[in-house]
Amino acid sequence: MTKKIGFLGLGHMGGPMAANLVEAGYDVLAFDPVPAAQEQARKDGATVVDSAVAAVAGRDVVITMLPNGKLVLDVYADLLPAANPGTLFIDCSTIDVADAKAAAARAIDAGQRALDAPVSGGVAGAAAGTLTFMVGGAEADFADALDVLQVMGGKVVHCGGSGVGQAAKICNNMLLGISMIGLSEALVLGEKLGLSHQSFFDVVSTASGQSWALTSYCPVPGPVPTSPANNDYQPGFATALMTKDLGLAANALRDNDVDGQLGMLAAEIYTRFNQSQAGKDFSAIVTDIRDRSDQEDAK
Ligand code: NAD
Repeated sequence: MTKKIGFLGLGHMGGPMAANLVEAGYDVLAFDPVPAAQEQARKDGATVVDSAVAAVAGRDVVITMLPNGKLVLDVYADLLPAANPGTLFIDCSTIDVADAKAAAARAIDAGQRALDAPVSGGVAGAAAGTLTFMVGGAEADFADALDVLQVMGGKVVHCGGSGVGQAAKICNNMLLGISMIGLSEALVLGEKLGLSHQSFFDVVSTASGQSWALTSYCPVPGPVPTSPANNDYQPGFATALMTKDLGLAANALRDNDVDGQLGMLAAEIYTRFNQSQAGKDFSAIVTDIRDRSDQEDAK
């Protein structure tokens, strides 16, 4: 029998994810406090209800796609007692590993089941149903969630127990942030030394300094025509979101006593850049490194 779904958080990501579930034939009760999000969900064929609690009544699966961990914990406090016992709660928001573990533990204490299932792939992936899901939780619950996640995703990976899906997400994004900063420093150093962007690309893309940031997402215009650098750094993946994810990574480094100096520094560098350029693609960090280097030069 097709699962009955409650969906909370119909923003940039949750809106299209819920729409894909409706299109695949699932019965979706949806809630978001913002009228424009409600209106769009109605157009997409979801049944929009007027409270979070109303969205979980009689549901088999409850999906949340919310801005932060505090909100997830607050919403769970209301929803867990309102849902049928044994309901599968799937949180797709990107939140602290510690919050994800706490949310799952509270769900299980309340007689429910829980998975953390953050995503990568952005708004385009949400719309196309090609997100990558990184899932943490019990094997049986993962197996039960698979049909629903596969409607919204192109790749679904069970990473381990509760919180380990979030761990995969922040480890990847911490490495991406560090890698983009390192690449940008090397590009600006090359500029100062008279190395053209194309020559840099031709050498480094097949040498030991190669990275996804260079070959798929080159932060300067030219070598990779599809990268945001060729479109005035329109996201893509916005600096605000990279800054958020690096903050979560920094919390996890601290909480777990990891000597993560580059991860901490990357969080600081993006926090500063985010103060003026939150809406630009995160690869625009190269422009900041160049500007700051030029200011040093002028001294
Ligand atoms: P968003 O701000 O567009 O959407 C969040 C939605 O949650 C909003 O519509 C808001 O009104 C709603 N909301 C707030 N309180 C609520 C409540 N009590 N009940 C129901 N809904 C409530 O954010 P987004 O871009 O859709 O991102 C959602 C999550 O996905 C975040 O954790 C983000 O880090 C993560 N994420 C985003 C992207 C991206 O490219 N946007 C990519 C990967 C992961």
